[in-house]
Amino acid sequence: SKKRKVDYEGRKFNNEWCIKYFIVQHNKDVVCLICQSTIAVMKEYNIKRHYDTKHSASYDSIVGQSRVDKMQQMVNFDDGEFIKSCLEIFIENVSPEKKNLVEQISLSRFTMARRIDDLSENIEAFLKDRISKCSAFSIALDESTDVSDTAQLVVFIRGVTDNFEVTEEFLDMASMHSTTTGQNICEEVTKLMNKLEIDSSKLVGITTDGAPSMVGKNNGFVKRFLDV
Ligand SMILES: [Zn+2]
Repeated sequence: SKKRKVDYEGRKFNNEWCIKYFIVQHNKDVVCLICQSTIAVMKEYNIKRHYDTKHSASYDSIVGQSRVDKMQQMVNFDDGEFIKSCLEIFIENVSPEKKNLVEQISLSRFTMARRIDDLSENIEAFLKDRISKCSAFSIALDESTDVSDTAQLVVFIRGVTDNFEVTEEFLDMASMHSTTTGQNICEEVTKLMNKLEIDSSKLVGITTDGAPSMVGKNNGFVKRFLDV
């Protein structure tokens, strides 16, 4: 019975493996999030061997919080695989000779995560470019609490070029985990403006939701932001 116990414990899923080896438990299997293959035996030795031989060269450099973020991204984007299996069933019935076309499409979690990264980088570059062409702009802010009680700060920008072309864009939504004083909001907005390389000397107007943390005479966001 002692041997059986050891064996049982050896096969118990350990949550730490998720981030260590980019895997998840799916029913009774262990699935690699990077290549989607199933790892036959739920033992760290087998999981580690899979990771070391196939992925460690590309993934060992991702450490700390970035590794946790990467792992969460991969877990979240699993719709692609579902869509792919639907497509496969469809094509098999409608046009079986084109089956290999669908098989070639990669909709794995990893690919989805990478594409979404590419898209957001592209949007950021586009925003930077549009804003840099504006000769004057104003910003609008609203801060509200979401269902999980986290404060979310939403920032919009409206700018105009020398040719009177108007750009109005959603800039960002920042989750504020600490307090939401005028100082905190000021830090968030400054961070955002630096990230998007926005020249604050072209700022001509600020619109807020009118809350005390925004318009307070001494410590409100507007007062602090203009003092910076
Ligand atoms: Zn793998």
